[in-house]
Amino acid sequence: MLSVIIPAYNEQDNAPLAASAISRVLSSYNIDYELIFVNDGSSDRTWLRLTQLAASDERIKAISFSRNFGKEAAIFAGLENACGDACAIMDCDLQHPPETLIEMYKLWAQGDTDVVEARKRSRGEESASHRGLAKLFYKLIQRASGVDMADTSDFKLLDRRAVDALLAMPERLTFFRAMSGWIGFETKRVYFDVAERANGESKFSFRSLVRYALTSITSFTSAPMQLVTVAGVITFIIAVIFGIDTLYNTITGNSAEGFPTVILLQLITSAIIMFSLGIIGYYLAKIYEEIKQRPRYIISEKLNFTPGDKNEK
Ligand code: UDP
Ligand code: MG
Repeated sequence: MLSVIIPAYNEQDNAPLAASAISRVLSSYNIDYELIFVNDGSSDRTWLRLTQLAASDERIKAISFSRNFGKEAAIFAGLENACGDACAIMDCDLQHPPETLIEMYKLWAQGDTDVVEARKRSRGEESASHRGLAKLFYKLIQRASGVDMADTSDFKLLDRRAVDALLAMPERLTFFRAMSGWIGFETKRVYFDVAERANGESKFSFRSLVRYALTSITSFTSAPMQLVTVAGVITFIIAVIFGIDTLYNTITGNSAEGFPTVILLQLITSAIIMFSLGIIGYYLAKIYEEIKQRPRYIISEKLNFTPGDKNEK
């Protein structure tokens, strides 16, 4: 059986569309499936729509969070509650074509692949600045962690083995896209064209994307911390050069000059120190968040999950 996990945040118009489009395609290929909608604390009528969908079809399951916990949390909630032999993650706005899901399913069904990832052939409608920043972000990640993630998305299909490996990872701050690569396993790729969003607008503002990028980088690599060391080495080299120069000037009796140099050095070093403290502080904050061991999300309601299912908790 295939579990399709669909995070939904304020998707009242898209949820029924997604449910029918995905169901139709899966049924036409005779694939046994369940759809797991995760309502990520929507403030519109998404949950109402999901209740109606769940009432009309028992293969449509729904989980509701007590508030907005973010897409990452929604993905993990779906994975934890899925009982399929494979799990796929899709967006609720039909930007991930259901036909591609079939292609991924077929690759998985051949039996030798544990992870099928869908990469963006084209990125759909996006502003040039968004595209540029996304590119920079993936470059940074690749440099820092060696995981090639250019044009990846959360649109993936995972075998049960891979799902269990992911769920065994205890961290609270998750980055699904990178973690599903990190676990390894046989991975195949398919390509898809990002469709236009069916209804509504993207749920990620520029600010939330920047925050998401920072959290993702820090939860996945400690490379920025090494920047601090590099800055330290560079400052040290400069310090040695200027130290020798200063000593020389003192000995030869020219030491009154160079006041601007002192000011500049003060400014530069304090900037570097504060910048470095900022990076360290950021990691410290993340460690603090992890160490609190809070749950990734809190569920307030669940529909169509039968008690006694192996994943029913
Ligand atoms: N989403 C979510 N929680 C959030 C933000 C988004 O569950 O806090 C869901 C959203 O409902 C959609 C998917 O994540 O199914 C992708 O969001 P969106 O289409 O807004 O992002 P984009 O396609 O612009 O990257
Ligand atoms: Mg979208």
